[in-house]
Amino acid sequence: PTSLLWFRRDLRLADHPALLAARDAAGPDGGILPLFVVDPRLWEPAGGPRRQFLRDCLAELAAALDGALVVRTGDPADVVPRLVREIDAGSVHVSADTGPYGRRRDAAVERALGDVPLVGTGSPYAVTPGRLTKDDGTPYKVFTPFARAWREHGWRAPAPRPRALTWAGGVASDGLPPAQELDGARLPAAGEAAARAAWRRFRDERLAGYDDARNLPAIDGTSRLSVHLKYGCVHPRTLLADLAAAEAPREHVRRFTDELAWRDFYADVLWHRPETAHEAFDRRMARLEYDTGPDADERFTAWAQGRTGYPIVDAGMRQLLGEAWMHNRVRMITASFLTKDLHVDWWRGARHFLAHLVDGDLASNNHGWQWVAGTGTDASPYYRVFNPVRQGQQYDPDGAYVRRWVPELREVPDRFVHEPWRAPGGVPAGYPEPIVEHAAERQVALARYEAVRAGA
Ligand code: FAD
Repeated sequence: PTSLLWFRRDLRLADHPALLAARDAAGPDGGILPLFVVDPRLWEPAGGPRRQFLRDCLAELAAALDGALVVRTGDPADVVPRLVREIDAGSVHVSADTGPYGRRRDAAVERALGDVPLVGTGSPYAVTPGRLTKDDGTPYKVFTPFARAWREHGWRAPAPRPRALTWAGGVASDGLPPAQELDGARLPAAGEAAARAAWRRFRDERLAGYDDARNLPAIDGTSRLSVHLKYGCVHPRTLLADLAAAEAPREHVRRFTDELAWRDFYADVLWHRPETAHEAFDRRMARLEYDTGPDADERFTAWAQGRTGYPIVDAGMRQLLGEAWMHNRVRMITASFLTKDLHVDWWRGARHFLAHLVDGDLASNNHGWQWVAGTGTDASPYYRVFNPVRQGQQYDPDGAYVRRWVPELREVPDRFVHEPWRAPGGVPAGYPEPIVEHAAERQVALARYEAVRAGA
């Protein structure tokens, strides 16, 4: 029989358990029909960078499949069963999608398929979300114990790359989705080969200094693999197997492994509590007061455009627009600034990030935001408010990052580059004065958190 392999966030051929399951189901005489469904419910809100990157991944995948990839547009609950009937497929194979929408969609597809099974094999994570629980059976709410259990559980060895697959053909494809207007944002190379190359470069050149360099946004010290992991051009299992054999000093390997554990942790949290994509994980924090109305809108716009007058915040927000990516340290600083200095709901900031990040991911992004906002898991204590000047001075001491993204500050001496209002000539022409005063807004944020606690 023909088996249908429905690609989603697993756009690769190596280390792909669902592909092996599809091959086994097809048997020696059957073929595999590879399918990607452009689902408007995911495609439309993804934002230009992610749409374009996904398109580039599909182009690479189609080439790797010698053109066998079938792309169809529409609601998967219509598209998949229709294709199954067209080719008389015996089974449909996927890697599990564990996000809230993906789970609902797959349940609808399964119902629509009737007798033809939807077979899930593997997931985009090293340990499938939902698998690890505490001894009393409840989910982990704190990262450190989760990571310990995750390491003890371990992960499967990478699946072998299958040889001599038979692809089914003769089926009409809608072709690739349309190319996107990007407004100048530069995207990384897409596809499985590019992901592997990015990983090898990082492993060989930067892993050995990762723990020291990872917090410095001026340096290319991190792997930039988030986007490749997002679309499954490489699986974390492949990275973990390689890390176990890596020659880099153990502290760096361990730190990088921990970052992959964060990714699994947030997916696990979202699996157990899907509503936390939008609602405070810490339910008490649902009562936290945020500003709304025209003043808040104006401050939000200044933040989004990188015009707050706080250099490290503005550099980060401009990097987001310029590269569709932002350094992790600066994601934390900009998120803290929006929620605690501008008192805007984290959810608005999270939505803005998801529209612009090429690695935008509901679990990592929205829980990253909640962590910073103090509403999430393992939340940074409510009284921790990032000081944007000190963060800049500590992590971008000579201002190289700020100057790269905020050219108005190029001539400001190093000493003042994170607080240009103190420079002898004042704030340079064309750059804004700070839109709020950090020390005062910090007090407002603390008072609001205190009010929630007092009412708890
Ligand atoms: P590296 O430092 O090389 O880390 C390796 C990998 O570990 C990353 O590719 C990523 O898959 C994972 N990882 C690292 N840090 C985290 C983390 N804190 N949480 C979850 N996974 C992590 N990551 C996303 O993939 N998509 C997002 O939409 C996203 N939004 C974020 C929003 C906020 C407010 C914050 C604070 C963090 C967010 N992160 C997000 C996590 C992190 O910033 C990025 O994964 C990281 O910057 C990507 O760069 P890298 O691949 O070079 O990271």
